[in-house]
Amino acid sequence: MMAQAAEQQQELGLGDIEVPVETLPKLQQLDLSADKGDATAAMAALYEAIKDCTNCRLHEGRNKFVFGDGNPNAEVIFVGEGPGRDEDLQGKPFVGRAGQLLDKILAAIGFNRTQVYIGNIIKCRPPGNRDPQADEMAACMPYLKKQIELMNPAFICCLGRVAAQALLNTTTPLGKLRGRFHDLEGRKVLVTYHPAALLRFPQYKHDTWEDVKLLRYEYDKLFAK
Ligand code: SF4
Repeated sequence: MMAQAAEQQQELGLGDIEVPVETLPKLQQLDLSADKGDATAAMAALYEAIKDCTNCRLHEGRNKFVFGDGNPNAEVIFVGEGPGRDEDLQGKPFVGRAGQLLDKILAAIGFNRTQVYIGNIIKCRPPGNRDPQADEMAACMPYLKKQIELMNPAFICCLGRVAAQALLNTTTPLGKLRGRFHDLEGRKVLVTYHPAALLRFPQYKHDTWEDVKLLRYEYDKLFAK
């Protein structure tokens, strides 16, 4: 049984992430291969398949499952740690004060929400906005990994320590991860501060600005006409 689960995990491109076995059949049953050039339908199918997920304790307190938002064909995905109160109520990522700041950060580098995708490591709000726990992230990570695989973006921008450490599978502090690109299966990963942290510690805004400028610079090298 264990070997079969490991095999399924490899087939799904989930690497070494520890995935609860109950997550695998749901992902495997999906036909997500329809149109490699347009991830819209595949992302919608993935949403339908996982929106009622009960794979970890966080489903117990959720109002709304927060799948992600934006353009499924974007070349940049921004990844936070998980929904907060406003996101849980509205079912969309980054809609509270931190979300408004993210919109400003995006605008400062010439993006809006229709040009990028925004998601989270976990899809249900942790009680009291605590950090997600390791087993909750392990349970939910296959969904984000599948979203990334379907979108196939060139860039991933991790917002905050929790998202960065989870995606890059490291314990290195954020201050040492930011400011440069990391490789994740051929994608360029940039790490910067979470907008909620910037609301509390405005002194990090300068570094964030430098990070997102770097993102835009690299993006333009690949995609500017
Ligand atoms: S946080 Fe993720 S794994 Fe946990 S119940 Fe929600 S969707 Fe499922």
